[in-house]
Amino acid sequence: MKIHKNDQVLIISGKDKGRKSKVIEALPKEGKVIVENINLRKKYNRPKKSGDKGQIIELPIAFDASNTKVICPKCNKPTRIGYKIEGNKKFRLCKKCNTEI
Ligand SMILES: [Zn+2]
Repeated sequence: MKIHKNDQVLIISGKDKGRKSKVIEALPKEGKVIVENINLRKKYNRPKKSGDKGQIIELPIAFDASNTKVICPKCNKPTRIGYKIEGNKKFRLCKKCNTEI
């Protein structure tokens, strides 16, 4: 998958469209990503002790990686990713500035 953990991405569709954030987890098998503060769902945490109040927390849920674009750390623009292969190493390239990312 072209998107890796810790990449900065731009959300290009859905309710978070136009927002930028960081990939917390990439799930290549499913073609999905989990992005910080994006696609949040409320989750109810049950109280641990009786008398405690339950807590509602918001968790980012995985969504389709095709809804994001990687932001190149060099030119700072949302870009498509290309690949460069040297020997048995594979590098990701920014298609805008041609820098390895
Ligand atoms: Zn670039």
